[in-house]
Amino acid sequence: MPELPEVETIARALKYGGRDAPSIVGRTIDRVDLLWERTLETPSPTEFHKRVPGQIITDVYRRAKYLVLKLSRDTMLIHLRMSGDILVASGIDIIGSHPRLVLYFLDDWHMTFTDTRKFGRVWLLTNPERVFAKLGPEPFDSSLTSTKFHQLLQRRKRQIKPLLMDQTFLAGMGNIYTDEALFKSQIHPRTKANTLSKVQATDLLKNIRSVLNTGIQHNGASIDWVYRGGDFQNKLLVYQRTGEPCPVCYTTIERIIVGQRSTHICPSCQEFPDEPHNT
Ligand SMILES: [Zn+2]
Repeated sequence: MPELPEVETIARALKYGGRDAPSIVGRTIDRVDLLWERTLETPSPTEFHKRVPGQIITDVYRRAKYLVLKLSRDTMLIHLRMSGDILVASGIDIIGSHPRLVLYFLDDWHMTFTDTRKFGRVWLLTNPERVFAKLGPEPFDSSLTSTKFHQLLQRRKRQIKPLLMDQTFLAGMGNIYTDEALFKSQIHPRTKANTLSKVQATDLLKNIRSVLNTGIQHNGASIDWVYRGGDFQNKLLVYQRTGEPCPVCYTTIERIIVGQRSTHICPSCQEFPDEPHNT
């Protein structure tokens, strides 16, 4: 599933050009082809077809795991969910399998949202804050200091891994980068958030930023979904390395289930602080 680094990589390619395609910024949308109506969360397909043509793409960026396309009048949000991807190509042929939405530009180019598993969604809004209001802070937000992060953790009794993946607590984290950040911080994923010390919270925030930055530098991870082009999967320390030796202490990496999600830990580096029977 695409997480912050993968969505950031796609957003940067759409904005600056990349992934074998030019920037889409400055292009005018000539017409749209909605191939799977339920891809559209809002508005109705009729209104979408009426409102989008003629609008110019003025900017592209990422917020949490949303791709944000600023248009001349509206904002289009795309959430890739499990298997979504964005392909930009020229000519009349639609590339990629399972296209759900195609934006045709006035020139020869078009942008296709492909999504095998159909969980991806698109919004067209005059004010994107309607969707963003419930999101937690961005991990790279400079106002998220280690003191602030520790205070936020102090208020929560949840297990740290599901809390970090809760988009209303912190935006952009998913299974891969959470496992990696907790391993680097030597924190067991079932540790209660409010039991973490200031030193642990500081270290955790630093490691969250470091794994996300490394992920972005490697164009994300191409793993268990259709996303292509990234090579961060070769740099993963514990994620999907069950049975392999821990890169720090050589203990065998284990797979456990935390919050119904597959979780990878080194049982020596990430000792559970108390109640090891607790699930
Ligand atoms: Zn270890």
